[in-house]
Amino acid sequence: MTLMDDMHKFGHEQVLFSYDAVTGCRAIIAIHDTTLGPALGGCRVIDYADQSKALKDALLLSRGMTYKAAVAGLPLGGGKAVVMGDVNRLRSRAFFHAFGRFVNSFAGRYITSVDMNTRYEDLRWMSEVSPYVSGLVYSAEQGGVSYATAVGVYYGLKAALKDRLSCDSFAGLRVAVQGVGSVGASLCEFLHEDGAQLVVADINNERLETMVKKYGASVVDTDAIHAHDVDVYAPCARGGILNDQTIPEMKAKIVGGAANNQLEDPDRHGALLAERGILYAPDYVINAGGLMHASYGLDGASHSDLMVKVKGIEATLDDIFSQSKKEGVLPHLISYAIGKKHILEAKKHTQPFSQAYKPPFKK
Ligand code: NAD
Repeated sequence: MTLMDDMHKFGHEQVLFSYDAVTGCRAIIAIHDTTLGPALGGCRVIDYADQSKALKDALLLSRGMTYKAAVAGLPLGGGKAVVMGDVNRLRSRAFFHAFGRFVNSFAGRYITSVDMNTRYEDLRWMSEVSPYVSGLVYSAEQGGVSYATAVGVYYGLKAALKDRLSCDSFAGLRVAVQGVGSVGASLCEFLHEDGAQLVVADINNERLETMVKKYGASVVDTDAIHAHDVDVYAPCARGGILNDQTIPEMKAKIVGGAANNQLEDPDRHGALLAERGILYAPDYVINAGGLMHASYGLDGASHSDLMVKVKGIEATLDDIFSQSKKEGVLPHLISYAIGKKHILEAKKHTQPFSQAYKPPFKK
């Protein structure tokens, strides 16, 4: 299959490969669909085994962003940036300046933010050369993009608790959090405050130790956390972790977390979870808090308005779960249909390639 075949299959508008010889910054930026607005999606830096894996990530993640924005009712399209390499070796101001210039080449059709292995300092560096960076407006005390994502996941899981366990508190429940980075660590804080017993896994021992010290979490192996005897499994690291090998081993009754593209094959593995009686909170619905943060930052809306919107993920999932029961259709298919409907409606009035963000100031 060629890249053009994939773009046709998934419905992508544009994919850009960029390379900066001075800093070694190598990026793929994929724009999936800009019917609802300019494409917004974070930038991740991963030392991919090969370019095809990076490209697959960019294509799937950008498509997920389209549906995330559509279901959340945001005037945004879907995009994603994937930078290839070891961030600890490559991170520098010049490196993220190069990336910011790649972003500028879309002239507002793509807006970037944080994702795996990128952090606030990186965004600040990008924003020195590009006005198309979001996620910097609210102060650190108010919480950033990842904090908003964690708030949304926490409230979204409450909807799942009501549906599957007939309770709306985590008191006495066991929750397995896979990945305790920017989102996972904040999620652990909220779950701990609500009385959950935490089981955590990460490849970063320092982060694990913090969770043990702060919240009394138990540590398990990264390859075994999905199979741990818990009530809720919250994937907050890489995608593709709900698959033929992991689903039959799962004991949790609910799965929902920050990671994007959790279902390796949405049709097959969505159905397999349902067969095993496991409620799946669709990833791009439950993890939309970060996108809401990024979008509200562009609009200049207040932080309290933002938090109302993020906590509203609970009500959105309440509706999806109840519609799912009523219609006998799985939650991830209900949310896909909701997103698709918004996009098809908007396509009646929007030309492709016509949506670009106009920054309020000139750089
Ligand atoms: P992060 O890089 O801050 O944290 C990821 C954590 O996962 C790190 O601690 C890392 O060591 C750990 N990890 C990596 N591989 C692992 C493995 N195999 N097993 C266990 N742990 C592993 O990233 P983040 O910003 O917290 O994002 C986490 C996930 O949530 C990603 O899939 C990201 O795309 C998604 N997401 C993030 C946001 C956001 O606002 N940051 C929004 C939506 C979705």
